[in-house]
Amino acid sequence: MLMTGEQYIESLRKLNTRVYMFGKKIENWVDDPIIRPSINCVKVTYDLAQDPEYADLMTVKSSLTGETINRFAHLHQSTEDLKNKVKMQRLCGQKTAGCFQRCVGMDAFNATFSTTYEIDQKYGTKYHENFVNFLKMVQEKDLVVDGAMTDPKGNRGKRPSQQVDPDLFLRIKERREDGIVVRGAKCHQTGSINSHWHIVMPTQAMTEEDKEYAVAFACPSDAEGMFMVYGRQSCDTRKLEEGADIDLGNAQFGGQEALVVFDDVFIPNEYIFMAGEYDFAGMLVERFAGYHRQSYGGCKVGVGDVLIGAAALAAEYNGAHKASHIKDKLIEMTHLNETLYCCGIACSTEGYPTAAGNYQIDLLLANVCKQNITRFPYEIVRLAEDIGGGLMVTMPSEVDFKSDLKVGKNGETIGDFCQKFFVGNEAACDTEARQRIMRLLENICLGAAAVGYRTESMHGAGSPQAQRIMIQRQGNIEGKKELAKAIAGIK
Ligand code: SF4
Ligand code: FE
Repeated sequence: MLMTGEQYIESLRKLNTRVYMFGKKIENWVDDPIIRPSINCVKVTYDLAQDPEYADLMTVKSSLTGETINRFAHLHQSTEDLKNKVKMQRLCGQKTAGCFQRCVGMDAFNATFSTTYEIDQKYGTKYHENFVNFLKMVQEKDLVVDGAMTDPKGNRGKRPSQQVDPDLFLRIKERREDGIVVRGAKCHQTGSINSHWHIVMPTQAMTEEDKEYAVAFACPSDAEGMFMVYGRQSCDTRKLEEGADIDLGNAQFGGQEALVVFDDVFIPNEYIFMAGEYDFAGMLVERFAGYHRQSYGGCKVGVGDVLIGAAALAAEYNGAHKASHIKDKLIEMTHLNETLYCCGIACSTEGYPTAAGNYQIDLLLANVCKQNITRFPYEIVRLAEDIGGGLMVTMPSEVDFKSDLKVGKNGETIGDFCQKFFVGNEAACDTEARQRIMRLLENICLGAAAVGYRTESMHGAGSPQAQRIMIQRQGNIEGKKELAKAIAGIK
């Protein structure tokens, strides 16, 4: 059964997820002004699925049950499905201008589905059945699941078992007849608080010494022993200010990252998807990362669409929109943004079926996609700042614009002066529209949403070097050498 957006919000209230922020336990985190925009952002994935205009893209028939499900819970059955995934993410990016968080779970489903199948083939384990049962429940209840991969990693020069503190990578601490006890943490977890469940995966390929770190499982977000510490974002406390609607730039939506701690959490056998099969840790990581690198060719492009629109409006509101260099900058931004989309579509089109039957993206092209994402949004932001002008970071607050404190010789208020001096192209906009667009630019380029549009573009789904390693592995330089030899007549 598909949930409505409202039902999703209500479903979160029933969870006992432990959340800490600014050193305090947050009892009602659903209505917390700092957290709520990130919940609204996930809610959009439910609202759009209910909207007849988007239902075709947002919903799909489950390959497991034949029921209509949200595409965020789907196992991709074709290259068409892979492309529709990217299109759905672009749409959600356009509607939120933020990170809507639900993709990490979708990417974890697809990677875990195919990897558990292959582990079972080799070891005769029952992980695939466990996973399929779990996913059926997720699809049936229309849940949000966090895909948790990134460990704290401590000293990057040491393997998991060599760390001074053995908990710096999440590990199996104890094996019992009926399950395992896990300890450790996952960092930078997108949407963890807003998720009903978590799928935990290893963070990197593992060796035999690190066997107890090769662990994957599902657990509810309010499992005993689990808690989350909310990550700060630039300008986050603006959300606490009275009358700061315009100053937020995007008052409705935002992303969310948290530190998720597993302080000895018991995982029953039926929710375990890997427990010591270290030779499959790398496969799970590679597949998840591949899907998530594809994802960015959709979501970041959607946010880019909003940013390009904001820059174009800023130019118009400033009265500079007819200048040829402005037009050219907008062309350049569009070119860069659509190049990213090309990569997302290309790695989907070149997808192929796994042994388990769902579709995997082309790994080389997905890594090229993400490598471009580590660069182009920065250039797009640079051009947006160029077009926007300094006002996006120097403008007085919304409260000043509305202030009736009399400061002028003729009794004018602070608000009067702000209104007077921040008029732009009076034919195109009033001062408030100009304020709003400048703040939106600030929000995406260097405010709260810059977490998603900039730093996450750099490090989310793996830092640039991780893609370069994959590009090296998949790039077939030897084959290219043979091509050159054949043309040059070298035997
Ligand atoms: Fe989805 Fe993009 Fe957020 Fe990742 S960064 S969860 S792909 S919106
Ligand atoms: Fe991400």
